[in-house]
Amino acid sequence: MRGLDELDVKGRRVLVRADLNVPLDGDVITDDGRIRASLPTIRELAGKGAKVIVCAHLGRPKGQVKPEFSLAPVAKRLSELLGEPVAFAADVVGDSARATVAALEEGQVALLENLRYEPGEESKDDAARAEFAARLAMLADLYVGDGFGAVHRKHASVYDVPKQLPHAVGGLIAAEVDVLKKLTVDPARPYAVVLGGAKVSDKLGVIANLLTKVDRLLIGGGMAYTFLKAQGYEVGRSLLQEDQLDTVRGFLNQAASLGVELVLPVDIVAATHFAEDAEHEVVDATAIPADREGLDIGPRTRELFAQKLADAQTVFWNGPMGVFEFDAFANGTRAVAEALVRSEAFTVVGGGDSAAAVRKFGLPEDGFSHISTGGGASLEYLEGKELPGLIALED
Ligand code: ADP
Ligand code: MG
Repeated sequence: MRGLDELDVKGRRVLVRADLNVPLDGDVITDDGRIRASLPTIRELAGKGAKVIVCAHLGRPKGQVKPEFSLAPVAKRLSELLGEPVAFAADVVGDSARATVAALEEGQVALLENLRYEPGEESKDDAARAEFAARLAMLADLYVGDGFGAVHRKHASVYDVPKQLPHAVGGLIAAEVDVLKKLTVDPARPYAVVLGGAKVSDKLGVIANLLTKVDRLLIGGGMAYTFLKAQGYEVGRSLLQEDQLDTVRGFLNQAASLGVELVLPVDIVAATHFAEDAEHEVVDATAIPADREGLDIGPRTRELFAQKLADAQTVFWNGPMGVFEFDAFANGTRAVAEALVRSEAFTVVGGGDSAAAVRKFGLPEDGFSHISTGGGASLEYLEGKELPGLIALED
């Protein structure tokens, strides 16, 4: 992959595919982490005298212009963070985009409207995607891929445009891939992975691939109940994926034969129902009452997990240990996050909700070696899949 420093950008129009897909409450950005993560590449290009044209998507407007998915609030925030004006185009590849780009001077930055307003962006039809990609490519002389959170998508702006323009990889993608390599190629040991989140089915590929690489696999969150059930315990009304029981039994056997230590919760915070103020008690993981629902790992599990992480040299964590959105059920997730902050290991947080939890707890971001900006993209990489956006930047 060509790095940014290998592109001669002065005076050239550079199209940067960024990931600016931030959570919005109305038109208020509730977490601007992804915008901040995009700044270094944009700054570097502008500093070298490029005419920087940023493109990105927001939410799922599905090929239609829907004002609630406008990138306008993002343009405003980007401008505040850059400390420079950002020219915002009212369309993606139309008159406004062309005029906005034509007016750019060296070192100036523009943002195009939401890529997903255009049906060609996400089209499964190669020709339709290539046609839209050609219209995007016409706006620029060079392309820089830096939207790590979208790199697992075979979308026009991610996969097709770099085939049509001289291209390079931006600093964010380069840094993310560097971290993922450290997690998959010769990681420092002991290597512990903590997985949680809602559904085990979302993480099957990751579990399968990481089982062959890790020394310890700690399972919490909603997926733990399918593991407990696979071991023969009843889980009451907890989240359970019956259709995954056979697969999970396979993982348990595989872990045993590979010598991987698979650590499951020993106690659970069991609630009467799924609610912030639900009545709850701590029960043994092997004795969850039939009318209760496990919404967090219990205090003994918090200690057990912290202990299993204490001497690890590499830790990857994806997925909350409980329903951390409710304060009463956030302690397990907080305990894992704090164990990572205490650790001297190479610690990586992947997953949008896990990263949101870290910020909700007010933990310092530099307490972790890396917090990934792309949950789905990191997971697909760790599954061993080829990512279209990386393939496109390779040649
Ligand atoms: P990430 O975005 O970090 O990859 P996921 O999207 O896989 O994480 O899962 C996050 C969700 O899992 C959170 O919304 C959390 O409330 C939910 N969750 C965690 N534990 C449980 C549980 N025991 N029961 C129900 N939902 C849970
Ligand atoms: Mg999530």
